[in-house]
Amino acid sequence: RGRVARRCAEVAPSATVALNDRVQELRARGTDVLDLGGGDPGFDTPRHVAVAASKALLAGFTHYTASRGLPELRQAVAEKLRRDNGVDVDPDTQVLVTPSSKHALFTALTAVLDPGDEVLVPTPGWGSYGAMARLAGAVPVWAELSPRDGFAVTRARLDRHVTARTRALVLNTPHNPTGRVLTAREADAIAGFAAEHDLMIVTDEVYEKIVFSGEHLSIAARRDCADRTVTVNGFSKGYAMPGWRLGYAAGPRDVVAAMLAVHQHTVACAGSFVQAGGVAALRGPQDALREAAAAYAARAALVTRTLNGLPGVVCPPPAGTFYAFADITGTGIPDGDAFAQALLAEAAVAVTPGSAFGPGGRGHVRISFATGAPVLDAALDRLAVFVRDLA
Ligand code: PLP
Repeated sequence: RGRVARRCAEVAPSATVALNDRVQELRARGTDVLDLGGGDPGFDTPRHVAVAASKALLAGFTHYTASRGLPELRQAVAEKLRRDNGVDVDPDTQVLVTPSSKHALFTALTAVLDPGDEVLVPTPGWGSYGAMARLAGAVPVWAELSPRDGFAVTRARLDRHVTARTRALVLNTPHNPTGRVLTAREADAIAGFAAEHDLMIVTDEVYEKIVFSGEHLSIAARRDCADRTVTVNGFSKGYAMPGWRLGYAAGPRDVVAAMLAVHQHTVACAGSFVQAGGVAALRGPQDALREAAAAYAARAALVTRTLNGLPGVVCPPPAGTFYAFADITGTGIPDGDAFAQALLAEAAVAVTPGSAFGPGGRGHVRISFATGAPVLDAALDRLAVFVRDLA
């Protein structure tokens, strides 16, 4: 091999980062690109959260904190999990505060996977799960979902891919990129599957507060799931705090202890004053969250209506998140990569090709409505002209 470790060389550069580079390049040349590619909420962090963190910073709250996270924040997380999710955890031994949900997911997968272990990753799905599994030396196994049943994670689909080496399953609800929200029936089927094969479940619930149809459900609260589930959540999406890099994980004691070891030797702790902001976010007024969710719901309706009015495009309404996942196989450019490239080159609108979400994403593009008017409206106008010209 060359100088680079195989498990790192195997990690493909993120398709979304590549897209972003291309957008920057075009902008540098003076093109007015409208970007519907991103996952950064267009809202500002609620002011009371920024004030709490600034006060902590100015008061000299700038030292290492307890590695697990500030006791007050862990307590707030445990209260939140009990209140919102029906998940009961001890804040002292079952909660870990992390610099981002992304890092919580990485730490969880590192803590449960040995080299050669397999982890089931439903596809379409967020690209980083597979990369994280590889970095842990494990093997991500794509479990391809079908648009015919709305990309539901079903027992039959999981059964096809489970082997004696499967150790874990990654779940994501509300789901990026499909916008699907897990139902109780699906959760119970997945729980039965995980019990039968003795799998850990790592569940990513970062879009929890952006749901417009149905209700968010945490699989850790389902029968017999608490002891095999690590629940990951954070502040980036719902609280519009992506630059703060703050998240958390909660799970069984032994797994959280292993995660703590990984965490202690890599990051020590999440930022001190950032955690003070986290306490304010969880304990303070929640109205900004509700206002944002209502705005996203209106945008979801607009995007779905517009896309379904275009020849050859099928876009099921998302139940949550700020993404729509459109099937473009009926248009003049049935391949998601080619479609996204042509749309960017010809109409200066950036969307994410479905292939960024694994093999199950082919024939689709993801349209982000994290950004609202006027960018969203103008981008949808350009997209409509582009698709009609293809017909
Ligand atoms: N999980 C999913 C499904 C995401 O889409 C994202 C962000 O794009 C993250 C996790 C990362 O969240 P954080 O900013 O807390 O690391």
